[in-house]
Amino acid sequence: MPDHSPLDLLIRNQIAATGPMPVARYMDLCLTHPEHGYYRTRDPLGRDGDFITAPEVSQMFGELIGLWAASVWHAMGMPAQVRLIELGPGRGTMMADALRAIRIVPAFHEAIRVHLVETSPALRRKQSDRLADYPDVQWHDSIDDIPEGPSIILANEFFDALPVHQAVKTDSGWHERVVRLDGDALAYGEAKDPIPRFAMLLPPQVREAPPGAIFEWRPDAQIMTLARRVRDHGGAALIIDYGHLRSDAGDTFQAVARHSFTNPLRQAGLADITAHVDFQALAHAAEDIGGRVHGPVEQGAFLKALGIETRALTLMKNASPEESLAIDAALKRLTGSGTEGMGSLFKVLGISHPSIETLAALSDQGQTTASSSGEIFKR
Ligand code: SAH
Repeated sequence: MPDHSPLDLLIRNQIAATGPMPVARYMDLCLTHPEHGYYRTRDPLGRDGDFITAPEVSQMFGELIGLWAASVWHAMGMPAQVRLIELGPGRGTMMADALRAIRIVPAFHEAIRVHLVETSPALRRKQSDRLADYPDVQWHDSIDDIPEGPSIILANEFFDALPVHQAVKTDSGWHERVVRLDGDALAYGEAKDPIPRFAMLLPPQVREAPPGAIFEWRPDAQIMTLARRVRDHGGAALIIDYGHLRSDAGDTFQAVARHSFTNPLRQAGLADITAHVDFQALAHAAEDIGGRVHGPVEQGAFLKALGIETRALTLMKNASPEESLAIDAALKRLTGSGTEGMGSLFKVLGISHPSIETLAALSDQGQTTASSSGEIFKR
């Protein structure tokens, strides 16, 4: 590979001309630059790509999400029309598996209008192929473009791809972390002036972090849009991602290419750049706007509560010995808590209209939860 990607050159020229840029701006350019942005140019998913997501691990994932959506539709009072919205649908696998599972509830299947929010032309094409049986699917650049109405919203590994800001604690306060030029290379730095009154906005456990600590945050716009929509029009949203249940200091800015970690400041636009999702921050923002928060719980517990083990056994009944092994491996990958497993690293958060008291598999009992007081996270 050449030393500098086209986007890398462009970013270095920009920094040379106008000065260091916040990490969030750098991440945004890497992922969504119209010509060279990571998601604009490729399908990053799968064995031959850069990373694998839960729906690509096994059909069981999308199927259970479909049945979860059916239970939400029941809780909503079975409206005759409901928008099934997915943010960042990747290859369309989760939606295809969900819609197939939903066929066992014909009235719900009938009620659904599918809306996909996707900015990548390459992935829109994949989604269109995958969902060829559903001619009425509509694509949107933003959730704001989707017509009103009762909605069930799904987002798997969407929030981790949204630009993240970082601030570094120093003796003179919290400074925004920036990307700057260090000779010919890109390097991290800190904005000269501290962010005014930043500490006041931080949860206490972060405020007391030692000098050098890094805090990450994302703008609340996306989560507030979701919460406002279900508050005003009824329904619920399901957010699944890797991240932490409680806001904390830490640097999770990372790049992955071909299934290995790489330096996020190298080869801009050629690697996937993400940061962990702060579920406490999401829960608070959703609650502030009047959404009802359910969970968050760990993905392993969520999928088990939805019956993934029974589903695996059913699939194994008609499978060859090799297929059975693959199903068992997928089950472990989706629910296991080891380093290879997604079961505890990934969290699941529900946000609903205030009238929906419980969402399937997201009840607090015995689970870790973001309570309304925000500080109490019980195990
Ligand atoms: N949900 C899929 C794909 C996850 S990858 C799965 O689980 O397999 C992230 C997805 O979000 C991709 O489809 C990407 O193109 C999309 N995406 C990233 N940033 C986006 C943005 N700002 N607006 C809309 N879609 C975005």
